[in-house]
Amino acid sequence: MIRITEITDKISDYYPEADIDLVNRAYVYSAKVHEGQLRLSGEPYLSHPLEVANILSDMKLDTVSIASGLLHDVVEDTHAGLDDIRQLFGNDVAKIVDGVTKISSLSFNTAQTKQAENIRKMILAMANDIRVILIKLADRLHNIRTLHFHQSDSKRKSIAQETLDIYAPIAARLGIFWIKRELEEISFSNAYPEEYAKIKEQTTANQAEREKYVEKVRDLLQATMNTARLTCQIQGRYKQFYSIYQKMLKQQLEFKQVYDIIAFRIILDTIPQCYETLGLIHAKFKPIPYKFKDYIGFPKPNGYQSLHTTVMGPYKERMEIQIRTHEMDQVANAGIAAHWSYKEGKTLDETTQQTFAWLQNLVEQNETFRDPEEFLDNVKIDLYPKDVYVFTPRGEVKNLPKGATPLDFAYMIHSQIGHQCTGAKINGRLVPLQYELRSGDMVEIMTTKGHNPSSDWLSYVKTSKAKGRIRQWIKKQEEEKSLALGRELCEKAFRKNKLNFNELVNSADMVKAATELNFKNIDDLIANVGYGKITPLQVIRKIVPDAKPQKEESLLEKLMSRRKDRKEKDKEAIVVDGFDDILIRFGKCCQPVPGDQITGYITLGAGITVHRKGCVNAMNLNPERQIHVEWKQETSGTFPVRLKIRCYDRMGLLADVTAAISQMDANIVDVNLESQQDKMVNGSFTISVKDTTHLENVIAKLKKVEAVQEIARA
Ligand code: MN
Repeated sequence: MIRITEITDKISDYYPEADIDLVNRAYVYSAKVHEGQLRLSGEPYLSHPLEVANILSDMKLDTVSIASGLLHDVVEDTHAGLDDIRQLFGNDVAKIVDGVTKISSLSFNTAQTKQAENIRKMILAMANDIRVILIKLADRLHNIRTLHFHQSDSKRKSIAQETLDIYAPIAARLGIFWIKRELEEISFSNAYPEEYAKIKEQTTANQAEREKYVEKVRDLLQATMNTARLTCQIQGRYKQFYSIYQKMLKQQLEFKQVYDIIAFRIILDTIPQCYETLGLIHAKFKPIPYKFKDYIGFPKPNGYQSLHTTVMGPYKERMEIQIRTHEMDQVANAGIAAHWSYKEGKTLDETTQQTFAWLQNLVEQNETFRDPEEFLDNVKIDLYPKDVYVFTPRGEVKNLPKGATPLDFAYMIHSQIGHQCTGAKINGRLVPLQYELRSGDMVEIMTTKGHNPSSDWLSYVKTSKAKGRIRQWIKKQEEEKSLALGRELCEKAFRKNKLNFNELVNSADMVKAATELNFKNIDDLIANVGYGKITPLQVIRKIVPDAKPQKEESLLEKLMSRRKDRKEKDKEAIVVDGFDDILIRFGKCCQPVPGDQITGYITLGAGITVHRKGCVNAMNLNPERQIHVEWKQETSGTFPVRLKIRCYDRMGLLADVTAAISQMDANIVDVNLESQQDKMVNGSFTISVKDTTHLENVIAKLKKVEAVQEIARA
């Protein structure tokens, strides 16, 4: 078992001023709470957190990371809680341990590869501190190194497969290739033992021969470099077994056909030397067309830089050669960890700053960080700022936009589940439908047959799918409602004209009437009578041209035509799904302005009255006639609002108040002030404003006028 002093010595080496005390305290605490627990290997459990801390110190990480590594299993596996960790080791350590615990407690029971990318994103999205991921990778690395202690074949295989699907790609994405390689090699040998054995056998079959070959080529390369007086380091290495296997699989090759299983790497001091070397290599060996890649000029999104070329070697075999600087080599191995490790001095060099370009790429967001240094200091990043990843009860991972609610989830599964949704459970606990989903949540939707959507839902769904489905449903309901109202109005009017509506409704005359009045069909015609777009009399006149108007009918017609001119502006401010030419008026009682929560009521044969939600008058109206209305995205014009005001009587008060109102670009429509006996003035103004924000600004301005005591919307 590795000793803590070995780890702390290493830390002191790369960071002499490190807070070693924090690491030591974490060690003592971890030893205490894990006491008595054993690993499958038979070693004390403590060996695991120690090895994890050791891996983290190999990555030269800060002491908070290493202390968190020592404590990473404490919350999950011992009686100690997160509060204890926070009290003893501070907020940072507690947050990181919490993050690791949350990821560790996820169980992925679908091994489908198409889920893998979503699971990887879920893990990255759950960690708001990159150190959480680094610790999780170190944890997995040690668990994979000790995988052989598992007795069960299937257990070993499933852990290995999960590592290949989830953790190795995360390590690759973060550019930590040494971890990626080790995870892959051990997992490959466990998940595909036969394939692994085959490749191993074939690579070792003529190993002595190959080693001689590697030596020869290296000497040849070295000689070439020497003549050009270039100091360099040359490595010849076998490709990983797993990448040979993947190449065979992807390109349908036999082992013998995979030529470039040996790759050479030439490491130099400067970038010009790299290009010079490339020229030398291409002059000496014939390059294979289209195999040259310049990742120095065009780095990979994860910051990887190198020149790659494949050439015909001295024995007419293909060989891959990578050319890079020492610094690039270091980044290629350590990836993101290289930038989180201790550095001498605090200022960021240009290379590090460029790293943020790849980090930004990595997180797939386009916003630029204002200050890279601040970003480094915080080390808190949101890797997938626009997404959340949640589980279905069956363990599938679903991707939704941030801010999505259980309703969005329900509609994503199926429209019927959305429509009939009556509640939701997150991780087994009931939540309101407005609950904002978080990555890692397990979402369960409760449905009731016959339950219907409500227009309120529109305000707490995020996805366009859910919005569309809810709107569709509302529209259908409203068409049915207006159809019933239209029928009611027609029956009444027809009766007064001694006609039987129900007999006439399916007649050829009625079809003709609909066409002549420019409606799609009879239902459309009747629905529009319900909305008050046309009157029943207009319909009757199409059938019996000399029908006499009843008294109330003609009054209604006059009213409607007058209102139509006057209320053109009101109509333009409101959207009623599915009806684009309806009479709209605003309740005088509550005077809605854009921005207010509103609801509409169908007034028999006279269009729709819009009230503010919660208006007392509206609440007394028949709920059957309620209809969903919305403000248009952009409204023009102004809307009257009555304000109640109470102030001390003083000279010039009215002038100041009116000045304040006009300064705010609002007009006064009506003023009514009354002096009281107690030297107070009570009164009301009606002003016209553009929307609620405008109104709030006016009220705020008026509050500042001297002597004004109270001012509010009436
Ligand atoms: Mn662990």
